[in-house]
Amino acid sequence: MTDSLPDPLPQTRHLATAIPGPRSQALHAERRAHVTDGFGVALPVFIDRAGGGILQDVDGNRIIDFASGIAVTSIGASHARVRERIAAQLERFTHTCFMVTEYESFTQVAKWLNEHTPGSFEKRTALFSTGAEAVENAVKIARSATGREKVLVFDEAYHGRSLLTMAMTAKVNPYKLNFGPFPAGIVRAPSANPLRSPAAPEGPEAVAAAALAAVEATLAEHGPEEFAAMVIEPIQGEGGFVVPAPGFLAGLRMIADRHNIILVVDEIQAGMGRTGMLFASEHEGIAGDLTLSAKALADGVPLSAVTGRAELMNAVHTGGLGGTYAGNPLACEAALAVFEAFEDGSLLANARAIEAAAREVLEPLVRQTGVVAEFRGRGAMLALEFADRDTLAPRADLAKEISARCHAQGVLTLTCGTHGNIIRLLPPLVIGQELLIDGLQVLRQTILEVAGEAGDSTAAAAASALA
Ligand SMILES: *Cc1c(COP(=O)(O)O)cnc(C)c1O
Repeated sequence: MTDSLPDPLPQTRHLATAIPGPRSQALHAERRAHVTDGFGVALPVFIDRAGGGILQDVDGNRIIDFASGIAVTSIGASHARVRERIAAQLERFTHTCFMVTEYESFTQVAKWLNEHTPGSFEKRTALFSTGAEAVENAVKIARSATGREKVLVFDEAYHGRSLLTMAMTAKVNPYKLNFGPFPAGIVRAPSANPLRSPAAPEGPEAVAAAALAAVEATLAEHGPEEFAAMVIEPIQGEGGFVVPAPGFLAGLRMIADRHNIILVVDEIQAGMGRTGMLFASEHEGIAGDLTLSAKALADGVPLSAVTGRAELMNAVHTGGLGGTYAGNPLACEAALAVFEAFEDGSLLANARAIEAAAREVLEPLVRQTGVVAEFRGRGAMLALEFADRDTLAPRADLAKEISARCHAQGVLTLTCGTHGNIIRLLPPLVIGQELLIDGLQVLRQTILEVAGEAGDSTAAAAASALA
């Protein structure tokens, strides 16, 4: 590399103006004049630079990043090796189209994924650009390999915004509203939500058993011999950071085997180290026949993958898979840099350390308030669910207000969930310990404040004890 690195971005929270500041407001007004209103925005600030755990906006505010661009920039948004590899590739060529002429980095990315995704069987990989494309191609592969049509998906599932993946996604507003009709052949079963399943009062084992019985009943009704695939997120993302009750994923694995249905594990949000293991399926000791990667795979350069059993991946006729940009060389170089970053295991250790720190700061809120129903998640994929303690009535109003006040203090949080009542934390795995704790303390204090103002006397007492 010939050009020198820019000054390092200070890893501290800093408020230079109100958030959003005047420059961001002016740029947002311009955006409104030119960009579709169909895109929402969590926080209308314009970013100038980002790296480590910091987003620096055009007004000079430094915001703590608890979003990572939705679980994408796990190794930081300006990682040195990613920039070096992309810069070197830029000097050589930007694109050939892998279906026209080949380049080695595509093969190397495939090789790494074959070696590191769960399952000790022989594998092949196909690369694409977006997560939705990976999901769609997994369905194409499963249908082609089995000669069957139907696909089983789950409540609270999120698989993307294309027509087929919208059909597979559970939540209507905003993802599916007014966009139908959808492709046929998608069948939905209950998820194993340990907080909200009707079996929840009997404990997590009962939740898993009830959900598995419902899967069998759903398959029986729709004809198990007509199903090509079942598609599951090992931790549900947009649907609410739902960690399935223990045993559910293993049970699905058995049901899939019993009926010769292909198990597709959508690791697009939970994979690539996010949960403290390279792939979240490893926590439950299962392997999908097909495993899907995207988001953090190439640190923000669009790249996605379907990796799975060689006999399934090769069942498709030659020419049946592809895409102009599929496995673009710049994206493949970025992915190879990500793989290097994971080599020494320290990023996975960081993910587990983030969980430990967040648990210490945030889990007591379940006792200290009447509105934090649960703190959950794995590694650096964590969430707080807001609901009234006795009725579990979702409190989206609180999640929204708390998030807004965190944003104003320079901490970027995101909400999610079927009821919009969940605040999720997806910090970059490289976030520094002090910055992490600062962001967590802002969040904790804000929760106590807002809950206290909303009439939660336990929270009000805890808040005044802090003050
Ligand atoms: C984000 C996401 C997708 C879709 O990925 P895009 O790149 O936005 O198309 C699919 N599945 C899961 C679990 C996701 O989190």
